[in-house]
Amino acid sequence: LRHTNAMTGPFTAPSIAVAGAAGRMGQAVIRAALDAGIPITGASERADSPALSKDPASLAGREPIGVAVTADISAAAAAAAVWIDFTTPAASLAALDALPASVAAVVLGTTGFSPNDQAAIDAHAKARAIVQAGNFSLGVALLCALVRDAAARLNAADWDIEITEAHHRRKVDAPSGTALMLGRAAAAGRGVALPEARLAPHDGQTGPRPPGGIGFAVVRGGGIIGDHSAIFAAEREVLTLNHVAMDRAVFADGALAAARWAVRQPAGLYSISDVLGL
Ligand code: NAD
Repeated sequence: LRHTNAMTGPFTAPSIAVAGAAGRMGQAVIRAALDAGIPITGASERADSPALSKDPASLAGREPIGVAVTADISAAAAAAAVWIDFTTPAASLAALDALPASVAAVVLGTTGFSPNDQAAIDAHAKARAIVQAGNFSLGVALLCALVRDAAARLNAADWDIEITEAHHRRKVDAPSGTALMLGRAAAAGRGVALPEARLAPHDGQTGPRPPGGIGFAVVRGGGIIGDHSAIFAAEREVLTLNHVAMDRAVFADGALAAARWAVRQPAGLYSISDVLGL
């Protein structure tokens, strides 16, 4: 019930600005916000986007809302309490640098950040609440908790952990942000940090698999929205925990739940698990 409430209210809807308003996720966020009655006060796109000056709701196939897509971050954010950003690492970092102080919180769904990028995000989270997640679905938040628990219970000498993920052909980063979330959850269950445990991709004359490591495998093709598995493999049994996203609306709904939650939080870096109380 708590999770249902976090997804649907009853909190007052904060006004939002949607970055990357013409993108796959930007459009999903706009549709979900219109359906939930959350006011969209601004929308941004890259400076050479054909969507500039268009109405973001019209782009999403809905009635216009009297907002124009702009490349000017301050203008897009001017009347918004929460900035929702599913764009690119460079665009998200530029927004964090330029957002006016009136924006109380940021929901950050972009993936593919470098360690340096992440340090910059951590620094920005000292000034305002940022909810960052490689996946905003309820199912994946729960999957992370299950993976962490399984990794803690299944000893590293006998149980190898491999994370697999499949995505559409247009995705530009690998492994996915979600796969890395699952890898971090598995590493946390084992009491290690992911960079220590992460195996190089299995490719070529690899030699035998070292015990205790966490491996990643990636599929790219067609229109797959997101399919993730954590595989725990022992000599005589295999446990697979799997999640399939069938509609980007699940990420959009989670992002809006995060927006509702984040406007009431002090500055800090939060995850979707914090939003859902997992
Ligand atoms: P997309 O390419 O369809 O959309 C990105 C949009 O951002 C594009 O319209 C692009 O023009 C726009 N953009 C680029 N630079 C910009 C700038 N400077 N200012 C404003 N807009 C700019 O990609 P997508 O499938 O929507 O994914 C976007 C990001 O979200 C990716 O990093 C993806 O991995 C991530 N993602 C996260 C989740 C999650 O739940 N956290 C779910 C799906 C996708």
